[in-house]
Amino acid sequence: MQDNPARFATRLERAKKSPGYAVCCCRPSPGDTPLRLVVRRYGALFHLARWPDEGYRHDRDKCTFFAEPGPTEESPGRAHDAIRNTPAGLNAKLDVSLSVRTVGTVTRGASTGASRSTRRSAPLLGFLQRIWMDAGVNQWAGGTQRNWGTCNAQILALVGDGKMNGKPIQDVLYVMRRYEEAAQATLKAEFDAFLNRIQTTPAVSERGIVIAEIKSIDPSKYGFVIKIRQTFETFFTSKQLIEDAARSFRHAWPMIGKADARVVAVLVLERTKDGNLRVIDLAVQLCNKSFIPCDSSYEVAMANRLVEERRRFIKPMRLDDGDVMLPDFRLTDTSPETAIEVYGMESNDAYLIRKAQKQALYAERKLPCAEWIPPAPLSTVALPAAT
Ligand SMILES: [Zn+2]
Repeated sequence: MQDNPARFATRLERAKKSPGYAVCCCRPSPGDTPLRLVVRRYGALFHLARWPDEGYRHDRDKCTFFAEPGPTEESPGRAHDAIRNTPAGLNAKLDVSLSVRTVGTVTRGASTGASRSTRRSAPLLGFLQRIWMDAGVNQWAGGTQRNWGTCNAQILALVGDGKMNGKPIQDVLYVMRRYEEAAQATLKAEFDAFLNRIQTTPAVSERGIVIAEIKSIDPSKYGFVIKIRQTFETFFTSKQLIEDAARSFRHAWPMIGKADARVVAVLVLERTKDGNLRVIDLAVQLCNKSFIPCDSSYEVAMANRLVEERRRFIKPMRLDDGDVMLPDFRLTDTSPETAIEVYGMESNDAYLIRKAQKQALYAERKLPCAEWIPPAPLSTVALPAAT
């Protein structure tokens, strides 16, 4: 259902009206309380989401709605947080204006010096990573593969009927659908309707945000052309933006178009005076083949191996700079859990000191940890068997 939502639209619409929820049958429900799932509408289609605080009740081994109790489940976020999970869906405040009076400038809110009563705003990359984490796309349940359709369904279930910068989130955020031959017309109409809301008049420019997998970025006569997967739509952008992005996302950039990896982007779109769509800001996240976020090409290789071996694992992601000692991956199918550290080949002092600190901490706390120190081949890393 998550891979082909168009086929189930009518049935889910009916369930949303009565009884108002869907039921997960991954395990027998105790007594008369069924394991409910939230039915959320996005465009013409519907998606299922975990019932708040019930992720842990689903079958850990088989069910995609299972979630370890974690930040998403424990805390909906405080009032001044940039990103909050509400019963209706995501409530996000980005540090990019979605509606501006002049064309061509990105206004960013000052993130420093804001008083405590002012709500913070999230940078694009932080927003993308929070979505991945809160939607559980950074967790692997031991399956064999995962395509964009499944990720799309998980993300849309999180987004729901939320808000972004005070606007209805479904008007300003589009999470690219997976191309489906049978639903081609529906999906194209949905994307076109979104793109048509991005308009520039002499007075105001209405922008839009797209989350998609990057297919290619190539130079053109007037700058660069960005192509994303699942659509033939292309977007123009400036040489300056591409050069800045290549510097800011130096691990992800060289991996664009590589078969072993995927690069996911959040794009801020604006319409030019002559009617073209232009990317005026972007952030990208490197992922492995199955959309598990990774911080380097070595992590991509490790995550691909873990998926191939059908391990159950999590890519821990930072909520803020406070969480210093996160492992690169956490194997959750061993007892106790096993940390996986992928040490890069960087040789600067700060990196080496940090590596030594991490190793000391694992030893001191007697935490199981599997290390990979390239250039040793990945196949030489011994991982503990799943228990
Ligand atoms: Zn379930």
